[in-house]
Amino acid sequence: RIMSATPTTVVLYPSPGMGHLVSMFELAKLLDSHGLSVTVIIVEPHYNTGSTAAFIARSSASNPSNRTIVLPRPDSLPHNPSRHHEAHAFDLLRLSNPELRRFLHESPPSALVLDYFCGYALDVSAELRIPAYYFFTSGAGVLSVFLHFPDLHSRTTASFREMGSNPLHFPGIPPIPANHMPVPMLDRDDPVYESFLYFSKRLKEAGRYIINTFEDLQPRAVAAISDGALPPNYFCIGPLIQSRDRESSRGGSECLAWLDAQPKKSVVFLCFGSIGLFSSEQLKEMAVGLERSGQRFLWVVRSPPSGDPDKLLEAPPEPDLERILPEGFLERTKGRGLVVKSWAPQAEVLEHGSVGGFVTHCGWNSTLEAIVNGVPMVAWPMYAEQWMNKVFLVEEMKLAVPMEGYDKDIVSAEEVERKVRWLMESEGGVELRARTERAKERAAASLAEGGKSKVALLELVERMKRGI
Ligand code: UDP
Repeated sequence: RIMSATPTTVVLYPSPGMGHLVSMFELAKLLDSHGLSVTVIIVEPHYNTGSTAAFIARSSASNPSNRTIVLPRPDSLPHNPSRHHEAHAFDLLRLSNPELRRFLHESPPSALVLDYFCGYALDVSAELRIPAYYFFTSGAGVLSVFLHFPDLHSRTTASFREMGSNPLHFPGIPPIPANHMPVPMLDRDDPVYESFLYFSKRLKEAGRYIINTFEDLQPRAVAAISDGALPPNYFCIGPLIQSRDRESSRGGSECLAWLDAQPKKSVVFLCFGSIGLFSSEQLKEMAVGLERSGQRFLWVVRSPPSGDPDKLLEAPPEPDLERILPEGFLERTKGRGLVVKSWAPQAEVLEHGSVGGFVTHCGWNSTLEAIVNGVPMVAWPMYAEQWMNKVFLVEEMKLAVPMEGYDKDIVSAEEVERKVRWLMESEGGVELRARTERAKERAAASLAEGGKSKVALLELVERMKRGI
C-alpha cells in the first residue's frame, strides 16, 4: 500500500441500485488500496429490497478504512406516478443535491466520482471546482450508446418502441434493434425518457470515464469512446466484481453446501439480478423445462410481481414454492435441483467449481462475474440495459446464446429445456465454455501487473493525485 503525507481524498457517489453499489464499493476498495482516502456517499435506497440495505451495511462494515456516508432523505419527495422504478431514483438523486453540496463544500475532495444516474451532481462539482469522473458501471458498449444518444434523438421524432426491431447504429458496437434500448427509453413522451436524455448530455459533457470493463473484451467500443482523445479520457479498469465476502455466504450456506456435493461443472445456475421477477405462468414454464432437461440446477425463485403500482418499490414477499411451482416439482427434482428463495450469494455460486452454466438476465455485474469465473451463459435479458448487453454477449463477444422468446410474452418450457441441454451437453456448449475460459484468462491478464486494466488504474490514481 502506497502512502503519501497528505492522502488525496476522493468521494464516490453511486446511485442506489444494487448493480451500481456493488461495483462502486469495489472501486472504493481499489482506490483505497492505492493510497487514496475514499468516502462513499449514498442516498438511502428508494427501492425497498432488504438485500440493498444489507449490502450497504455489510460493505461499509467490512471496509472500515473507507468512510460511508448516508445522506439524509430529502424532506419531501414528489408523488411520482411513473411505473419505472428508475424515475423514483432520479427524484431522490435530484433532490439530494443540496445535501451533497453541503457535504462537499465542508471538505472538498480532490475528485468526485459519480455514476450515470447522478448527473445532477455535476452542477455541484462545477460550482465547487472539483474534477468529476464518471464511473460507468455498465460496459463500454452501453457507454457508446449513451454518449451518442442525444445526437440520435435530435435526428428523429419517432419513439424507439415505434421503430420496433429496426437497427440503430452506434459507433463501435453491433446494430441494436430499437426495441432493445432500455425500457424507460422506449417512449419519447415519457418524462423518464427526458431524464435519460439529460443524463446522456451530462455524461458527454464530463468527458472522463472510468469503465468497468477490460479493453480486450470490448476493443471496438473502447476505441469508439476514446476517438483519439489525448490525454486518453477513459480508464478501463475492470473487471471489478463483488469480492468474496464471508459474511455474505451466511444466508446462502445451504446452496453452497449443496453445490459442494455436486460433480464438477455439472450444475446450471439460474438467477435474474437484484430485482428480476417473472409471472407465475413463466415460472411454471421454466420449471417444466428444467425438469425435462434432466440437468442439475440451482434456481433462484422470487414471488411474481403483485401488479399493484403502490408496491412498485417494494421487495416481493418470500415465495411460497409449493404454490407457485408445478405440483410435485420440488419432490421430483429433489437431489438433482435446488430452488433457493429470493436471493443467492451469486458471486460465490459462480465461483464454485460445480457450476457449469448460467442462465442470466445479463446485468453487467452478473456478466462480469460469469466471465471472471469462465462460466458460459444463456442470455435472458429483462430490464434496464440488459437487452443491449444480450446483443453484445451474443453477437460481439460470443460468450452467450440467447433464450429465444425473451422479447415475446413468454419463453416456452421447450425452449428452456432445449437451451439448458444445449449449454450443458452439446458440442456447441463445450465450445462456448472453452471461449468463456479464454475470456476468463484475458480478464485475469488485464488485471495482472502490467495488464491493461492495471496500467489504466495506476494512471487514474496518478491523475487523481495530481487533481486533474
Ligand atoms: N446478486 C446476488 N444474488 C442474487 C441476485 C443478485 O448476489 O440472488 C448480485 C449479483 O451477484 C450482482 C448484483 O447482485 O453482483 C446484480 O447486479 P447486476 O448488474 O448483474 O444486475 P442488476 O441487479 O443491477 O440488474
